[in-house]
Amino acid sequence: MVFRATILTLYPEMFPGHLGHSLAGKALERGQWSLETMQIRDFAEDKHRTVDDTPAGGGAGMVLKPDVLARAIDKVSEGDSRPRLLMSPRGKPLTQARVRELAAAGGAVIVCGRFEGVDQRVIDARSLEEVSIGDYVLSGGEPAALTLLDAVVRILPGVMGNALSGTHESFENGLLEHPHYTRPQVFEGREIPAVLTSGNHAAIEKWRYEQALRLTQERRPDLLADQPVTK
Ligand code: SAH
Repeated sequence: MVFRATILTLYPEMFPGHLGHSLAGKALERGQWSLETMQIRDFAEDKHRTVDDTPAGGGAGMVLKPDVLARAIDKVSEGDSRPRLLMSPRGKPLTQARVRELAAAGGAVIVCGRFEGVDQRVIDARSLEEVSIGDYVLSGGEPAALTLLDAVVRILPGVMGNALSGTHESFENGLLEHPHYTRPQVFEGREIPAVLTSGNHAAIEKWRYEQALRLTQERRPDLLADQPVTK
């Protein structure tokens, strides 16, 4: 089963963007995942092809119309069991665990908001799962959708091959990853930690685990609170 992404957007030309390059781009060319965009504006029915309107209750900005968006969603998700996501700063923050679930789900329909956002009734009526990529506000959902897809595509089978180091990666075991080093042996007077060039694999594993734990304690104690860490 090939992972199939369908993006609903007012800016289809923003895709595949960076996902057309490097390993994700090669995997896309090889057909290991697929990306389809749908222009939301094509589902407007008036002669000006209007997709937004002023907010009920007043205030700045515009709101994406529910009827137009609903038609677009219905068109792409007919007889389709893929998760339907709406990129939104009000959504549940994206985690590596959710990324793994999405990769296993075989695909996703992703709605990119613009302006002040989307009429609440289409979110409710089409059961859109709101997903946030962090506590800051973007001008549109497209970079958020590309970010989510980047995280999903890189863990699809065969996409990264041996380049995917798996278990040690940040978040995979509830910890941030240990630091990395490569040649030269001495850089501006700083040496590679001796244990890493010792050839003692058990000692290297232990050092990496301790570093991961230390970094996580310093920078992201919230990750440690989420799960018990064994010695
Ligand atoms: N007025 C809204 C922000 C709208 S930003 C609010 O205050 O909540 C316009 C669009 O950008 C949103 O509809 C959403 O699709 C996207 N967006 C902005 N920030 C985002 C984030 N942190 N994560 C995911 N999508 C985001």
